[in-house]
Amino acid sequence: DSPTVMTPITPHLHIEAVTKKFGSFTALDIISLTINEGEFVCFLGPSGCGKTTLLRTIAGLSQQTSGKLIQRGIDVSTLPPQARDFGIVFQSYALFPNLTVFNNVAYGLRNRRADRARINYRVTELLALVNLSGSEHKYPAALSGGQQQRVALARALATEPGLLLLDEPLSALDARVRGHLRSQIKALQARLGVTTIMVTHDQEEALTMADRIVVMNHGVIEQVGTPAEIYHQPASAFVASFIGTMNFLDVTVNSADQVTLAAKPLTCQPHHNMPLGETARLAVRPEAIALTQQQQGLSGEVIDIEFLGAFQRVTLRLTGADQTLLADVPSRDSTSLSLYVGQTLGIHIPAEAARLYPVG
Ligand code: ATP
Repeated sequence: DSPTVMTPITPHLHIEAVTKKFGSFTALDIISLTINEGEFVCFLGPSGCGKTTLLRTIAGLSQQTSGKLIQRGIDVSTLPPQARDFGIVFQSYALFPNLTVFNNVAYGLRNRRADRARINYRVTELLALVNLSGSEHKYPAALSGGQQQRVALARALATEPGLLLLDEPLSALDARVRGHLRSQIKALQARLGVTTIMVTHDQEEALTMADRIVVMNHGVIEQVGTPAEIYHQPASAFVASFIGTMNFLDVTVNSADQVTLAAKPLTCQPHHNMPLGETARLAVRPEAIALTQQQQGLSGEVIDIEFLGAFQRVTLRLTGADQTLLADVPSRDSTSLSLYVGQTLGIHIPAEAARLYPVG
């Protein structure tokens, strides 16, 4: 057995109050964030949230309006891209079409005047890492999208950058290749230990690949956390609605951890600053809800059942309220419940899965 090595957390990049304006439009609004050595961080958010602008600013391809970037203790805020320490992969592969695979990967090393032996060694090593040994003499046009993206990855890593930047690297690929390359990139990153930032609008990609996810919206960071934190403890209604499927139910706030839903009392996660007696939104995931034959307490009428393989997604209309909710019943449980449209079922919402957010 190899001993467990505790690596100390060392910051790689400090993003300090970075703001980017395009005319009067603020694309990045005072972004502050620290990315640690060896971490895989995803910038996740809807189209236009500023994630690409933030990545381009880190690369020096876009100049921030104000704020600083400190990489390994050095202020790189005003350095041109070629003076910064990163490799980058774009969505569109961006390989040199007139260069062979070998020469594409060798490009950065030649720019740095690496000697021939070093170039041969490094290119061979990298092509093996991305499973493209034997394709040295092919041209990009002869490769599939997934293969081209692996060449782009090898090219980005050739000069051993301290930071790997990935700008939606998988989004141009079809689903099967995407899934495969996702695990390949993740494994390669873990093996090399290179600090990596990936921009994506695909939550599944972020949840499966990232050590930490930075959720962005309208130029600000909504939450930074591990995939489990982002999924189970969303810091805002935006994060709660953006990741996964979420029910939002109108409730009245009774106390720090109790609300009224459809005239029934319900315990939820303790909250702060939620005015008592006011309306709020209770967020609960469909898979956290249990349906029972018992009908005291919260109940609802089944109005739709959708078969989704591993589970059935049941839509219920709450008894005594004009609200619907989704509950996922695992397929192995659904036979014992014998679900049918029109039946009334008890609805159990566990307190630990119920979180409160302000309206609007
Ligand atoms: P997408 O996934 O669609 O690229 P994004 O989150 O990466 O979205 P950005 O590309 O960072 O978003 O853009 C953020 C906002 O800044 C958008 O509203 C965009 O229209 C605007 N923007 C980006 N680049 C420019 C530019 N060069 N000039 C003017 N506005 C820009």
